[in-house]
Amino acid sequence: MQVIHEPSALQTLCLGWRRQGLTVALVPTMGYYHEGHASLIRYARSVADKVVVSLFVNPTQFGPNEDLEAYPRDFERDSALVRELGGDVLYAPAPAQMYEADHATWVEVPELASTLCGVTRPIHFRGVCTVVLKLFMLTQAQIAVFGEKDWQQLAILKRMVRDLNVPIKLVGQPIVREADGLALSSRNVYLTPEERAQAPQIHNSLVAAAESVAHGEHDSARIVDGIRAYLKEHLPCGEEDYISIVHPERLTPITTITDTALCAVAIRVGKARLIDNILLKA
Ligand code: AMP
Repeated sequence: MQVIHEPSALQTLCLGWRRQGLTVALVPTMGYYHEGHASLIRYARSVADKVVVSLFVNPTQFGPNEDLEAYPRDFERDSALVRELGGDVLYAPAPAQMYEADHATWVEVPELASTLCGVTRPIHFRGVCTVVLKLFMLTQAQIAVFGEKDWQQLAILKRMVRDLNVPIKLVGQPIVREADGLALSSRNVYLTPEERAQAPQIHNSLVAAAESVAHGEHDSARIVDGIRAYLKEHLPCGEEDYISIVHPERLTPITTITDTALCAVAIRVGKARLIDNILLKA
């Protein structure tokens, strides 16, 4: 496994692979790996000749009062894991290598980025789209792998790829959870033991919602009220950012569930803002 910091070195290497007819899969990450990241890297390894994992805590997707500085980092452990999983390249640029001082070009999908997480994180998805498109251009990857935990991110990136005719296939992988149901996240380290003990209730509330839909409840407002009441009782230290039921691709609100809908939530628990989601099937 090679560690590369310089964008031009990554691009030269990957263009060489493409000229040889090899397939390249990209796994974009911000590091501090857990089994969720590992599942994406394993999938990439199983479908492509060459696997590039990027590790970059992208400053442009953090708002001014967010956790850019505090975001957990452990390069030694992360690089050992990528090596162990058979990654060919770990691309770990410094911010100044990814962004020129006068960087001025942004990619936005405002219709999908102004809802759900975009309400409290207005510049987040602009930063995500821009850095991910840059990674696509640097790697010339034919496949990129993302987690369904960040469902909105994947929906936005799919729209970006479609609208801009980017020659790449995006693949979503299922959410990896702790044994008690909490979705794995690098940010779970922010939780105190008491908060950590309550945090799985987020997933439990979503499972209960999905069960109620399967049993015939199709009214989104009542389902959201049910989740809110469940969390009030079982996760008293949590503070709702949003609980929404939306179309899985368009991310527009759904009032009556007739087919498949996405239920997505963001709940603040202490210093962490936890997101999770589940598909509701009528
Ligand atoms: P991050 O390093 O948190 O930016 O995440 C990098 C990639 O890993 C994104 O595509 C995430 O959706 C994915 N990911 C993060 N947590 C999980 C999880 N628990 N299960 C599956 N994928 C995940």
